[in-house]
Amino acid sequence: MHQVKYGTKTIDFNISRTNRKTLAIEVHPDSTVQLVAPENALISDIKEKVITRGRWILKQQYYFEQFLPHTPIREYISGETHYYLGKRYILKVINDNYKSVKLKGGQLHITSPDTSNHKVKALMASWYYEHAKQKFKSILDEAILKFKKEDVVLKRMDIKRMKNRWGSCTCQGVVTLNPELVKAPSKCIEYVILHELCHLVIPNHKKEFYDLLEQKMSNWKKWKKHLEMELK
Ligand SMILES: [Zn+2]
Repeated sequence: MHQVKYGTKTIDFNISRTNRKTLAIEVHPDSTVQLVAPENALISDIKEKVITRGRWILKQQYYFEQFLPHTPIREYISGETHYYLGKRYILKVINDNYKSVKLKGGQLHITSPDTSNHKVKALMASWYYEHAKQKFKSILDEAILKFKKEDVVLKRMDIKRMKNRWGSCTCQGVVTLNPELVKAPSKCIEYVILHELCHLVIPNHKKEFYDLLEQKMSNWKKWKKHLEMELK
């Protein structure tokens, strides 16, 4: 991973070398920037190119961001709607002298001696995080079985709040998932995980990548769309 400063922003990018003669820049829907460079291109020249195209790169990233989760502002008070695995729950804040978070029927009960918004928010966030960890792991364990033939090396899964993306991966085999994803249906989570696992085989978003994804999940487009449209 490389980076350059562009105004007040930092642009991170990966470089892949090919036998082409000119530099090309790709901005992917997950906001990653890929430089396709000739074998002998100098890093300094590549960085200069990224800066020259900085405005365009940021514009592309902003464009993709509009498909990403824009959860409405929450106040963490009773009556609000919150999602878990694609189902909506009505928040019920209960003042008592113990702390607990649990789903009860169609409700999400949060009990605490301190029911201020930031306390309820913190309790809810750690509940989501714990459930995300378990859920993602079980979906990932299933999904990796579909990659026996490709012999992918998955080093570990991380969970990290990311502003602009649902998931990402490194070529060293680390898959990172946004805990917000646990608000979406299991199939959407599976789609994001399969997408990232496919990247462990094919790093770019060219046709072969989508062919592989299609093999692993034939109706991935449906769940991608669901993720983009429904979880707002
Ligand atoms: Zn991707």
